Amino acid sequence: MRTLAIVGSGPAGFYTAEAALKAFGDAVRIDIIDRLPTPYGLIRAGVAPDHQSIKAVSRRYDQVATDPRVRFLGHVSIGTDVSVEELTAIYDDVVLAVGAPLDRPLGVPGEDLPGVIGSAAFVGWYNGHPDFKDLAPPLSAEEAVVVGNGNVAIDCARILAKTVCELQDSDIVNHALDPLSRSAVTRIHVLGRRGPHQASFTLKEVGELGELERATPIVRPGDFPPAESDAALETGQRRVVEVLRRFAAEGPDAAKPVTVSLDFFRRPLRVLGTDRVEGIEVMKTRVDESGQAVDTGETEIIPCGLVVAAIGYRTSAIPGVPFDDKAGRFVNVDGLISPGLWCVGWARRGPSGTIGTNRPDGFALVERIAATESAKGRTGRAGIDALLKARGVTIASFEDWQKIDAMEISRARAGAPREKIVELTELRKVFAD
Ligand code: NAP
Repeated sequence: MRTLAIVGSGPAGFYTAEAALKAFGDAVRIDIIDRLPTPYGLIRAGVAPDHQSIKAVSRRYDQVATDPRVRFLGHVSIGTDVSVEELTAIYDDVVLAVGAPLDRPLGVPGEDLPGVIGSAAFVGWYNGHPDFKDLAPPLSAEEAVVVGNGNVAIDCARILAKTVCELQDSDIVNHALDPLSRSAVTRIHVLGRRGPHQASFTLKEVGELGELERATPIVRPGDFPPAESDAALETGQRRVVEVLRRFAAEGPDAAKPVTVSLDFFRRPLRVLGTDRVEGIEVMKTRVDESGQAVDTGETEIIPCGLVVAAIGYRTSAIPGVPFDDKAGRFVNVDGLISPGLWCVGWARRGPSGTIGTNRPDGFALVERIAATESAKGRTGRAGIDALLKARGVTIASFEDWQKIDAMEISRARAGAPREKIVELTELRKVFAD
């Protein structure tokens, strides 16, 4: 019998479990461990609440979680309740599928001012992650800045731009929907340090900016290189640029009161303000032949009351596990950290790719795991149960999650799929009583 602990119940964790079930058949027992009592990681707390079709992938994970060879051990923290060293002594293989939950810092003066918020926190707030329920982002100024040109930046800008009506049938939590409904933000700037050809966002996400009820995109026609140069782009990027060129050609819809301005060729220099954000000074850039942003020497100040930094994520380091501080992920060779200890998904390769990218990643890792010998004499389920019991750790099982799920569905506002429970004390009542 092969025993496997997968730490993290997001997409990378579940795809790895699915792959292990297929590869080992009846000869495997898998424990999926998560520090939260609720599963699905980024699906629940990262994917935008108005992208319900992407969130629906969790139903596939349910098939894995309810397989008798699999257990969900929620509310178990690595480092506090059990160490990685202990896990590697209990299981044949331990897979760290912990994602990249930390914000990369902007690295500019003023970024510690209240009102500068990393996208992990901002997204966690509107998605009901217990860690960020009290964030209260300032929404009283007309202008807000989102730094970054990836899909997360677009998600954040879109959520700021949408009407309550547009968000009504999403699973955005009421503690975010209420303040957003009173938000004064009408001018949203999305800063890209490079140009339209280098933007990281994808077609669907950028296209949605042209379909908002009260908001309209602004793209400067002068930000594009000659049209013939688009031919050299790969198809996906070319289609993104086509949409951006259309936005630029059409100009903003004057009937819409909210603007989402894609401000290319601008990198943050410093955040301005004394006791809170009052603006951001940016350096105008150009892109050189190698594709890098180069300063022009010309600066500009954008007044604003909120800065969301959506410039990528970092994995959380774990004591005793080698960490590449520059890359912000575990040191590994094709997922192998040390014998019996592996990583997968964003914890392995960094924060890139879609949810689906994690499936081949999980399957490839299990192939590598299967090619190694199973360790002898590991206690697996019995070992972890005894250790957690001795430490008084209350585990949230998958059945407990199903109870939470039913409660959340029952308290949904009209049209919404659920209203998430964000208080850990309230969640604990379900499985600790
Ligand atoms: P991302 O796609 O890597 O974008 C990060 C952006 O931040 C880039 O535009 C980057 O610019 C910029 N940046 C980095 N450091 C910066 C700095 N110091 N100053 C200014 N700008 C800086 O990352 P992400 O948006 O966090 O998304 C992570 C992954 O999740 C991506 O693969 C994304 O596609 C995926 N995702 C997908 C969806 C979806 O499918 N709907 C939704 C959300 C996220 P440079 O290019 O110049 O480095």
